[in-house]
Amino acid sequence: MMKFKITLLTSFFCCLSVFANELPDLGDSSQLIISAKEEQAIAKAILREVAVSPEIVQDIEVIDYLKNLGNRLVAYSPNKTQQFNFFVVNESSINAFAMLGGVIGVHTGLILAANSESEVASVLGHEIAHVTQRHLPRMIAQQKNDSIKSILGIALALLVARANPQLSAGTMTAASAMGVQKQLDYTRDHEKEADRVGFQILTDAGFDGRAMVSFFATLQKGSRFSEGAAPSFLRTHPITTERISDMSNRVKETRYRQIQDNPDFVYIKSKLRAANGTPQSAVDEFEGSIKDKRFMNEAAERYGLATAYMRKNDFIKARQEVEWLKINAKRDVLIETLTCKLEVATNHPAQALNLYLKALNLYPNHRALIYGLAELYLMINEPEKTIKLINDKLNIYPDDSYFFELLSKAYSKEGKELLQYQAQSEAYYRKFNLPRAIEQMEFAAKSKDGNFYQKSIVESRLKQLIFENSLEDIKDKK
Ligand SMILES: [Zn+2]
Repeated sequence: MMKFKITLLTSFFCCLSVFANELPDLGDSSQLIISAKEEQAIAKAILREVAVSPEIVQDIEVIDYLKNLGNRLVAYSPNKTQQFNFFVVNESSINAFAMLGGVIGVHTGLILAANSESEVASVLGHEIAHVTQRHLPRMIAQQKNDSIKSILGIALALLVARANPQLSAGTMTAASAMGVQKQLDYTRDHEKEADRVGFQILTDAGFDGRAMVSFFATLQKGSRFSEGAAPSFLRTHPITTERISDMSNRVKETRYRQIQDNPDFVYIKSKLRAANGTPQSAVDEFEGSIKDKRFMNEAAERYGLATAYMRKNDFIKARQEVEWLKINAKRDVLIETLTCKLEVATNHPAQALNLYLKALNLYPNHRALIYGLAELYLMINEPEKTIKLINDKLNIYPDDSYFFELLSKAYSKEGKELLQYQAQSEAYYRKFNLPRAIEQMEFAAKSKDGNFYQKSIVESRLKQLIFENSLEDIKDKK
């Protein structure tokens, strides 16, 4: 956890110095309002760290699950121009936080503690509301400060406090921003507004409004999954009796609707549990719960056990669970992906290929399946099929850096140098790493193959990358 915070902090600091220098009059705090463009620059800096941090969950099925859930809510948010990004932090405490630029992080502990998808959605709705109501920039603007340093300190501490309350005290000392501790927490008014707007978003998007009340109860019960970890969410978003009664009243006024939870929710929870601890401890947990029938959903539990066996390389037992799921569980894309992966892991490429093609036919946009099939084509030395698959799907996921890494690998197998470096450059670009993107595009420009048309694309793209980078340099030096 620590390492991620520190790297996040460093780049955030650089980024802040970019816009702090452009602030017109530091004496007048009302002018200290961060522009949308500056917020996007901050979001980029955060996402650059998110892309490479080991503390961030990089499992594409978990990522896409949260993104889809978040975007479903965002579609009903009051601010249509605000951009949002969602990511999952591998951290057992129950927390979620919004940062400048609409970047919202959710701890795995929160997903595990939630009893329904609507409960997770209720927290996301609340965080989205903090963003659309511009609570963070307003908090920064309201600070009465006499130097850039303390503004930076506050913004920095805000960022870190959102992510990890335990760490914020030390950070603030380091940033010479003593005395702002109590202002780091959202105000009561902010909380009330986030509850109201968040509830509207939640119910408009078709989720169960009662989930907001039930999740409050879950939070107050504390964490059953991580002993000793107090729900950090309570600290940054204090729940008062007033908030609870406001919320209960709102629920009473809403017409009762039976909401069907997305079945993926329980599988994602199992997947997160199966990724926890050592492979053996994960296996023990699921074997124990199945033996004692301690579960809400047997299929999700067996999916978790199969995933844990996969981690342990116990493919015989994994297959037994997958067979059970085939017979007893309703069809689900997460089970399909797992089944494909099992065939790859047990060295059955023909079966894997067959299953991937069938599954992708049913779920054409499921990224884990696209990744898996593209990797399989590389494995069986059919790079031209990887290239075709990725190019077919690129319009759905134009910002996916891994798509370009797969392309780069495929071109490398075909011995096409220019295309290999060009794709690698585009992969770095999508991880917000301009220097590396330029370096790779220079390799592409210098490569000996490639036709006139390809070379001119590379050269103009290189110029564009250098130009974008020079803009950032100028800001840094100003
Ligand atoms: Zn809040």
